[in-house]
Amino acid sequence: MKPPAFAYYAPTNLEEALRLLHELVHEQQRDVKLLAGGQSLIPILNMRLAHPDAIIDLNPLESQLSYVRRAGQTVCIGALTRHYMLQDHPEIIRSCPLIAEAVKLIGHAAILTRGTIGGSIIHADPAAELPLVCALLGGSVTLRTVDGSRAVDTQTFFVSYLTTSIELDEILTEVTLPTLPPRTGQAIEEFSLRHGDFALAAAVAQVTLNADSTLADLRLCIGGAGPTPVDCSHVLTSLLNSAPSTEEVKDALRRIDDELDPLEDIHADAAYRKELAQVLAYRAIDRAWQRARAAPVNGTARDD
Ligand SMILES: Cc1cc2nc3c(=O)[nH]c(=O)nc-3n(C[C@H](O)[C@H](O)[C@H](O)COP(=O)(O)OP(=O)(O)OC[C@H]3O[C@@H](n4cnc5c(N)ncnc54)[C@H](O)[C@@H]3O)c2cc1C
Repeated sequence: MKPPAFAYYAPTNLEEALRLLHELVHEQQRDVKLLAGGQSLIPILNMRLAHPDAIIDLNPLESQLSYVRRAGQTVCIGALTRHYMLQDHPEIIRSCPLIAEAVKLIGHAAILTRGTIGGSIIHADPAAELPLVCALLGGSVTLRTVDGSRAVDTQTFFVSYLTTSIELDEILTEVTLPTLPPRTGQAIEEFSLRHGDFALAAAVAQVTLNADSTLADLRLCIGGAGPTPVDCSHVLTSLLNSAPSTEEVKDALRRIDDELDPLEDIHADAAYRKELAQVLAYRAIDRAWQRARAAPVNGTARDD
C-alpha cells in the first residue's frame, strides 16, 4: 500500500526544522508529522490511519540529535539515537543497563536499525519497551520549539494510547534518564506470541537494597495493561525495609490487579493479560533483586 500524498521537507539542522514546523503549524494551519525511523509512522500512513499534509524528515538532523552522553548522575540520549546503537553502547550498559536489555526485545533487525528512541517515546504504544523503561526510571524528555524548550517528567508524559503531552509545534530532542544507583538491580520481562512482536504484557522492575540487604526501594511498571505504562510501585510499599519471602512478594503483587486495565483483542483477553502481568512482575522483581545483591556497595554490576 502507498501513503496518501503529502508535501515533504528535509531541513538540514534543528533550528531550520523548528522554524519550518512553527510556520507550517501556526501560519499555514497544516497537519504536520515528523519522520524519524519511520517504523511506526510509515505503516500508519500506508494503512491510511493518518493523512498529514506535510512530513518533516528529521533524519538529516542525525549529526545533531544522535548521541549518548553522561552528565553527572544522568545519561542524556539524543532523540534520533537508533535502537541498535543503545543495545551495545558502553555508557548505556554501564549507567542505564535496563535500556540495553529492553532494546534487545524490540522487533527485528530492520526496526532496530531504523527506529529511534524519540520516535518510540512519541508513538507511545503502551506495550512498547522504551516508554515503559522511561516511566519506571523517571527522568525527563526535552521538547523544543522556536521559542525555547521545556522538560517534562517521563512519569507524566504519557497521556493515553499513542498520546503524549507533546504540542504540535514541538520536537522531542533529548531523553534524560538517571544512572543506576548503588546496590540496585533492574530487569525487564515480557511475553509475546512471536519474537519481535509487541508484547502481550511486559514488566520492568528496579530494586535497591539497604546496607542490611532489606529493600530500600522497589519500583514496578507494567506495559500492555492500560492506556499508558502503569506504575504499580505504590502498591508494593508494604515490602520496603524488609526482606520479604517469595510468598510475601506474590501476595503483594495480587494488589496490582486493581491498577491494570488491559484491552481485549484476538490475541488475549483482559483476564489473561492481568494474570500474565503478575507472573512477569514477579520474574522482573526476582531478577532485579538478584542483580541488586550482586551489585557492589558503591557501584553497579551486571550478572550477565
Ligand atoms: C513489525 C514491527 C514490529 C515492531 N515491534 C516493536 C516492539 O516489539 N517494541 C517496540 O517498542 N516497538 C516496536 N516497533 C516500533 C518501533 O520501535 C518504532 O521504531 C518506534 O515505535 C517508532 O520509532 P521511529 O523512530 O521509527 O518513529 P517514526 O515511525 O518515524 O515516528 C513515530 C511517531 O513519532 C513522531 N516523532 C518521531 N520522532 C519525533 C521527535 N523527535 N519529536 C517529535 N515527534 C517525533 C512521528 O511524527 C510519529 O508520530 C515495531 C515496528 C514494526 C514495524
